[in-house]
Amino acid sequence: MEFTIDAYVNLLELLKEREFSFCFYEDECDQKSVILRHDVDFSIDKALEIAKIESRNGVKSTYFILLSTNFYNVFSKQSYEKLHQIIDLGHEIGLHFDETRYEITTIGEMKQYVEKEAAILENLLNTKVRVVSMHRPSKFTLNNDIQFDQLINSYSKKYFKEMKYVSDSRMHWREDPMEAIESNQYEKLHILTHPFWYSTENEAMDVKLLEFMKNAVTERFDFINDNFRDLEQVISRKEIVI
Ligand SMILES: [Zn+2]
Repeated sequence: MEFTIDAYVNLLELLKEREFSFCFYEDECDQKSVILRHDVDFSIDKALEIAKIESRNGVKSTYFILLSTNFYNVFSKQSYEKLHQIIDLGHEIGLHFDETRYEITTIGEMKQYVEKEAAILENLLNTKVRVVSMHRPSKFTLNNDIQFDQLINSYSKKYFKEMKYVSDSRMHWREDPMEAIESNQYEKLHILTHPFWYSTENEAMDVKLLEFMKNAVTERFDFINDNFRDLEQVISRKEIVI
């Protein structure tokens, strides 16, 4: 499967054609069903783009948001508005948790930090956060089937082992999701995609990354412009375009 918007829409269409129902983690779906999970590692804008496309196709999914990242700030007004747009389109927000942010050596510590971040996100967005997914999960997470008191762990056995799990990590499908669907072998699918990798054109990984890096320069200009009077008198926008 290619990393284009069209290919992603084809995936959604195939799921519908094969009569999979689209479920949230907390839903009790006993018929043929799929959970669509999106880890938002780099860009809320990209997540919103995919959220709109899914909504147009009558599909719901869960977007996992990082609190401890340098790429976006969930506390900013823009992020808040975009995340609420995603919710208003009928999707859910989950917590994407970066274990490396803390010194975690026990399951108790893991639970404590995850629950703390989930509460922050929940209060911030004023919406229920029911699920957590780990950003670049450690062996500790993958091997321990950790159960939280109030949260669903997307890496728990029920979702990670008992369902057919396919993911596009590092812009690579170890197993093609279209083939998994077409094989008719699986009643329950759990599909992880990273919205960041999907673009209109079929671009290579380095092209997508480079474009993202270059856009950051003009974005930074705009942020400074919002917080610094008469920036254009000091440095013009033309000077920073690379
Ligand atoms: Zn991640």
